[in-house]
Amino acid sequence: MTRGHQKEAARARAAKEADKHKGGKSQLSARAAGNQMKCPKCLTPVANYKLIQQHMEAKHPKETIPPEEDFA
Ligand SMILES: [Zn+2]
Repeated sequence: MTRGHQKEAARARAAKEADKHKGGKSQLSARAAGNQMKCPKCLTPVANYKLIQQHMEAKHPKETIPPEEDFA
C-alpha cells in the first residue's frame, strides 16, 4: 500500500514535471507551428494548409497541391 502510494506520488510528480516542460515547449512549438508549413515549390513559409492551397493556386497553378498530411 505504502509502496503504491509512493509510486503514485512519484508518478504525479513526474507528470507535473513533464507538464511543466511540455508547457514551455508547447508554447514555443505553437508559435513555431504558425509558420511551419512551407510551400513545397518556392519554400515560402505559409501559416496553414488553407493558405498553402491559396498560395499554390495563385503562384503555382500548374502544380498539384499535396495532401494536408504532407505538411504535418
Ligand atoms: Zn510557392
